[in-house]
Amino acid sequence: MSRDPIARTRPRSADVDADRLWRRHLEMARLGATPKGGVNRPALGEKDIEAHALLATWARQRGFGLAIDDIGNMFVRRPGTADDAAPVVSGSHSDTQPTGGRFDGIFGVLAAFEALEAIDEAGIETRRPLEATIWNNEEGSRFVPGTMGSGVYAGRLVLADTLAAVDREGITVADAVAALKRGIPDADVRALGAPITAFVEAHIEQGPVLEDAGEVIGVVTGIQGSRKFHIEVIGEEAHAGTTARRHRKDAFVEAVAMVNALHEIFHDAEDLARFTIGQFEILPGARAVVPGRVKFSIDFRHPEISVLDDLGDKVEPACRSRARACEVTIDELPRSAPVAFSGLVPDAIEAAARLRGYPGRRIFSGALHDAGNLARQFPAGMVFVPCERGLSHNEAENAKPSDLAAGAQVIADVLVDLANRD
Ligand SMILES: [Zn+2]
Repeated sequence: MSRDPIARTRPRSADVDADRLWRRHLEMARLGATPKGGVNRPALGEKDIEAHALLATWARQRGFGLAIDDIGNMFVRRPGTADDAAPVVSGSHSDTQPTGGRFDGIFGVLAAFEALEAIDEAGIETRRPLEATIWNNEEGSRFVPGTMGSGVYAGRLVLADTLAAVDREGITVADAVAALKRGIPDADVRALGAPITAFVEAHIEQGPVLEDAGEVIGVVTGIQGSRKFHIEVIGEEAHAGTTARRHRKDAFVEAVAMVNALHEIFHDAEDLARFTIGQFEILPGARAVVPGRVKFSIDFRHPEISVLDDLGDKVEPACRSRARACEVTIDELPRSAPVAFSGLVPDAIEAAARLRGYPGRRIFSGALHDAGNLARQFPAGMVFVPCERGLSHNEAENAKPSDLAAGAQVIADVLVDLANRD
């Protein structure tokens, strides 16, 4: 008997099929393919429903169960020997940004499904059921807010309000979910919020750390939190040729002073603060008019709640102290607290990666993911694999078949491990 305590207790797992996994990525990438080689698949639009239906077809061929819940999350199920036990679940999302890539989201769905198939082919029994899931509307580019399906499932968003959200054409989430159910008429109904033993999500890193280090598996320890603000500087429109400086209330000049002050405040020595002004609008936007109004956005993210509090609270005084002739209004959107994945799932991921001999490290997620919502209710964690140049939300997004297979392999091993624990 092995002296390694992990090896001794390690349950039998199955080897994933790297070629099948890669072929399925290419098949899914045809649904909503863009001329530049990316994917445009808005949540529960025609192409996204086709993606759900394709997964449903593969699931039926394997004899797996299929269910959809009231917010449009879809679950593929492989029964356990104790079928009333809460499942161990893996998955991600199938929707994309309008100029999205071939791997963001769908990799986590296909890795979970490959894990279920490989485990099934190997005839491995698990005590708890295993499920592969597609969470609805992660990207938030068709319906707001993003991470919608997992947010409702985990009780962070209210179902009725969320179903009433509309896209730019006035189509409600409720209409879109009904279309999904029409597209997959034989799916069972799944109860929202039904208990989950553990959730694990595979995802491309969307950053350069693993690729730069020549590593394959990122054991994600948490997701950073965020604070978002809308700032509006209100001055007075005036004639550019006749108004002297001393009479001007130039909203642009004062907004620039605010932006410069903010950049200094958020310049941390360790380079962990992610501070972005991504929108900046000058009104009325005419060459011969002193700007009467400026609107800009602030997106601030950090892994530590104390820093989010301290630095975020400096936005308002920094802006107010730079407003001289103008007025300034500061609105903060709902905060998102940092998530720490602790214990069960990250440890299981790390053990699986070590046993398979994949080089890796513990890593923090700069981007938001469905696992962040699930972690508020259930044990959860994430597996990152490298993506080329860290590029994502981009049609050129790319990943290596062998890295994707390594991620799916870790998912398979973790699912068997967690589904058979006491
Ligand atoms: Zn994603």
